Amino acid sequence: MAAAVELVERRVPVTVFEASRTLGGRARRVDVNGLALDNGLHILIGAYCETLRLLATVSGGLPTGLLRQPLDLHVLGKFRLRTAPLPAPLHLATALLRAQGLGIAERLRAAQWISRLRATNFRLDSDVSVAQLLARHRQGARALRHLWEPLCMSALNTPPESASAQVFLNVLRDSLNGRREDSELLLPTTDLSALFPEPAARYVEQHGGQVLRGTPVSSLRVDDQRLLVHTAAGSTPFSHAICALPPYRVAEVLGGVPALAGITRAVERLTYEPIYSVYLQYQDPLRLPQAMFGLAGGIAQWVFDRGALCGQHGLVGVVISGSGRHQDLAQETLVAAVHAELCAHFPQLREPLWSRVIAEKRATFSCVVGVERPSQRTPARNVYLAGDYTASDYPATLEAAVRSGVACARMILESA
Ligand SMILES: Cc1cc2nc3c(=O)[nH]c(=O)nc-3n(C[C@H](O)[C@H](O)[C@H](O)COP(=O)(O)OP(=O)(O)OC[C@H]3O[C@@H](n4cnc5c(N)ncnc54)[C@H](O)[C@@H]3O)c2cc1C
Repeated sequence: MAAAVELVERRVPVTVFEASRTLGGRARRVDVNGLALDNGLHILIGAYCETLRLLATVSGGLPTGLLRQPLDLHVLGKFRLRTAPLPAPLHLATALLRAQGLGIAERLRAAQWISRLRATNFRLDSDVSVAQLLARHRQGARALRHLWEPLCMSALNTPPESASAQVFLNVLRDSLNGRREDSELLLPTTDLSALFPEPAARYVEQHGGQVLRGTPVSSLRVDDQRLLVHTAAGSTPFSHAICALPPYRVAEVLGGVPALAGITRAVERLTYEPIYSVYLQYQDPLRLPQAMFGLAGGIAQWVFDRGALCGQHGLVGVVISGSGRHQDLAQETLVAAVHAELCAHFPQLREPLWSRVIAEKRATFSCVVGVERPSQRTPARNVYLAGDYTASDYPATLEAAVRSGVACARMILESA
């Protein structure tokens, strides 16, 4: 959708083929019990500059549907890091030096590490794992447990033992080390389909493009100089194609293009990490301390108050990133475990009225050291690749996906 918006804005006619009837892919609305939930609870950060720019384009002004908050990482009873209302970099230095739940030596070491990273522009000579990098810089046990490891899991959805330190540093560079606004958290106040893809589709249609929902592409073929997109309804010729599939669908659609054999093989080598979202509907009213906060020591990682965010009173959303013992539990056991963890902090909670577990088993590719991500430009003439798995400074995120789409659109515009 990012590529389509960028192209129709420059009067290039586009057709978007989308397999699902609901737009959004891995960031989409899921209707449950008459409520618009999401397949996964997402957060954006102020540094998502391309996503925010396109949100503004399609909403005709300032991006809507997001609650902007100063960075406040609060793990109940364990840790809290809040940026101060000061200009960068003081907002961060003060946050680290005042972080609750760390000893003074740990706070100093964290602040020193960030200033050393700043001196090298957050670049490593050669990539190592996040765990190795943190050990090299002697980060304290509590800083690891409550700050760096949760940040690594939230940003890269890959355990620190294998996660790419360079990609982690890219995220720190743009979020913590940028302007104060870049570190801000942006929490959706609407469902994810309504946030960007649906307004983007309206924008595309109003600018002469088409968005075909419920229309999976079965294959792309190269015939003479034309690109043929095959669907159940037949084949349609195009001058250019952007393949914006999730990585695990790329080979089946592009497998018939010989020039792309190397790329499809590389994409098939990617491995994946899960993200679980557990929704629990409690009796209204419910008072949680913040719209988003963390829990430590159990299964639940981040808790979202959908009442405060989306007006879905009494609904709590819980995120569990990465692999773990939660994957072996039956859904009702997982819900009971998450409910018990919430009750440890909020004893007034009664049994949920209903619950829903949404398990995205291939939520993101594993952003490990040395992972091979294909470029948006491919060896097949006029065929481009967009998606969060393509070459990027960023891990598998909305911003990586949007930037890749914008990059494809610009390459097409430049080639015209
Ligand atoms: C549970 C969860 C939580 C996440 N949390 C965050 C977060 O907090 N912050 C963040 O920035 N990122 C987060 N992410 C990552 C983010 O959602 C993804 O990086 C992003 O949505 C990827 O977008 P994409 O366009 O690359 O791929 P996708 O979203 O997978 O889009 C691919 C599209 O292709 C369509 N498609 C598939 N096959 C065909 C076919 N044959 N023909 C036509 N269309 C087809 C799909 O239906 C889909 O719409 C999360 C992801 C998940 C799953």
